[in-house]
Amino acid sequence: MPQPNLSYWEQTSFIGRPDLLIIGSGIVGLTAALEYRRRFPTAKILVVERSPIAAGGSTRNAGFACFGSISEILADLENHEEQVVIDLIKSRWEGLARLRALVGDENMNYQGVGNYEVFRDQDTHLYQECRAAMSHLNELMESATGQKDVFKETPLDIERFNLGQTQHLIWNKAEGMINTGKMMQTLVDLTLKADIRIMNGVTVEKLSIQLNQVSVLLNNNWEINADRVIVATNGFARQLLPELSIRPARNLVLITNPIDGLKINGAFHGEGGYFYFRNIDNRILLGGGRHLDLKKEETSEFGENQLIKKALVGLLESTILPGIPYTIDRWWSGILGVGEQKKPIIARQQDRLVVAVRMGGMGVAIGSSVGVMAIDELTL
Ligand SMILES: Cc1cc2nc3c(=O)[nH]c(=O)nc-3n(C[C@H](O)[C@H](O)[C@H](O)COP(=O)(O)OP(=O)(O)OC[C@H]3O[C@@H](n4cnc5c(N)ncnc54)[C@H](O)[C@@H]3O)c2cc1C
Repeated sequence: MPQPNLSYWEQTSFIGRPDLLIIGSGIVGLTAALEYRRRFPTAKILVVERSPIAAGGSTRNAGFACFGSISEILADLENHEEQVVIDLIKSRWEGLARLRALVGDENMNYQGVGNYEVFRDQDTHLYQECRAAMSHLNELMESATGQKDVFKETPLDIERFNLGQTQHLIWNKAEGMINTGKMMQTLVDLTLKADIRIMNGVTVEKLSIQLNQVSVLLNNNWEINADRVIVATNGFARQLLPELSIRPARNLVLITNPIDGLKINGAFHGEGGYFYFRNIDNRILLGGGRHLDLKKEETSEFGENQLIKKALVGLLESTILPGIPYTIDRWWSGILGVGEQKKPIIARQQDRLVVAVRMGGMGVAIGSSVGVMAIDELTL
């Protein structure tokens, strides 16, 4: 196919040669763009995004302002050293504070309502482990966040929320919920206001790092040359950089239609954080379950998994809405970026390229800090 050259006008003034080109307009890409603008007020900054709006994790998550349920933190302690776990909680806690300062609580309906971990009939063993570790975990939480007695049992809430097949609840008082759509809309508004251009509907196909620039080849065969580039494509990152140690992980979500007299109020986790649900606009939003079919869900293709769909409906009927009539409004999926280590990759590849990916399902919490760290790395 002949290469459709950029016109002289496009080349010189419309697109030009960005000082910084960011690939991906999720939380990480946009916060990196805003941080670069803060440091370099006159820089030419371009964000390229393959979807009409960002569509990976940032606009498709459950809206939990979340830094870990009790059993998730316990599992992290089994796989990582204690200091690593404390540092991870700290980075989630500080990341959330940064996101709240950047976006503003009122612009994303932040609600500091805490978060409950649900232990169902079959989770007795997990509950006992969490119960036994609770005072130690509270010490860890205090050293990471300064908050005392973060976890506590709230058995009376089982009836208040009308939860079925539930034996125990452990509350995490330091968690919260946001409206994800409003959060991302505010980030886009801030980006445009900061004179940063977002180009939607273009996929970056290839990167080539040269001595004095990075050449970015788009799917329409245009080539844009930028002084520096940040790759912020999270679960899709291996499509551009196959050597990266990151895997995609799909997550399925459903939302019901409004339910009269809904008793669920707050954010809830189950099974080590693999299931999560909340109320929003008198509806139930429920997602997760990829641990039931890990291999199949290691994909960056949006779509449904019948096994997981069935498990989510089962959970809805047995535990969240027992005996309560409901209808499902819609299903959707989102893509996470995960890896062996529960830590983001923020790495410079030669002088002009920085990769900021692998949010490990924590991007709402750490994404805005990762965006800033990407700029630190780029400007070292
Ligand atoms: C269902 C679900 C629930 C979640 N729950 C939580 C939670 O409770 N707490 C929490 O902290 N996090 C949660 N997350 C994770 C969080 O949403 C993500 O970690 C975060 O949004 C990742 O942000 P990002 O900017 O790194 O990537 P993304 O938001 O995925 O953005 C990457 C962007 O890059 C674009 N892109 C990809 N390839 C290319 C290319 N070649 N060219 C151009 N553009 C490209 C994509 O279209 C996408 O918009 C959840 C995610 C999902 C899906």
